[in-house]
Amino acid sequence: TDLVDKNGIIVEDLVFSYPNQNPILEEISLTLKPGEQIALLGKTGTGKSTLMENLVGLKQPNSGKIWIQGISLEQKNLFEVRRQIGFGFQEPNDQLFMPTILEDVIFGPCNYGVSPEEATEQAQELLADFGLADVTNRPVHELSGGQKRLAALAAILALNPSILILDEPTNGLDPWWRRHLAEILPELPVQVLLIASHDLNWVRRVTQRAMVLQQGKIRVDMPTEQL
Ligand code: ATP
Ligand code: MG
Repeated sequence: TDLVDKNGIIVEDLVFSYPNQNPILEEISLTLKPGEQIALLGKTGTGKSTLMENLVGLKQPNSGKIWIQGISLEQKNLFEVRRQIGFGFQEPNDQLFMPTILEDVIFGPCNYGVSPEEATEQAQELLADFGLADVTNRPVHELSGGQKRLAALAAILALNPSILILDEPTNGLDPWWRRHLAEILPELPVQVLLIASHDLNWVRRVTQRAMVLQQGKIRVDMPTEQL
């Protein structure tokens, strides 16, 4: 329908292989509707991260089509759609590329036209919300794994994405932060929330739908509570 086209994600017959290898993803088709909160599950190495990176345009499928909010990723000018997507890498180091996390959180909004003053103020608030007020100016490599995870999340949320795709967002976090994320993520004003995770108990609290990737295909697609 129209609504799906405008706000959701549609994938049709997606095939992806790494160079000189058999396809990791084989003709995947799926529709993520606006309002949905979806878990992407599957054993280690089945291709969850690969699928997510295809969805956000970081990897090119061999064949098949992807539409995000009605825009085909084959199109050349993806600036508008890209700015709607927040993607949290499995590895926070892939996200944090500035010398300090304060600069990392400021960078995105400034790139999209927010004034440096406003972006800095917002960044400091966000980082404080994530318990990082004391380390905003510390070199990134001096932060703990969990601190980097939270800083990366702050950098993503600073952009107010309407589509949020998180690759194992609880990795490295203690039980308190896991619980806190389970409370705040479902409340975010995003159209689509897609989360890859190995933490079944946690995703049960955050999503309503679960897709299981197995041998290149989505083999299970069911309500999370029935897992
Ligand atoms: P995990 O649960 O461990 O995060 P995953 O489901 O996210 O696993 P992917 O990272 O998508 O799995 O990897 C899928 C498969 O693709 C794995 O077999 C992996 O070895 C392979 N792979 C990943 N990256 C590359 C690469 N750059 N080149 C070649 N093969 C790769
Ligand atoms: Mg992965």
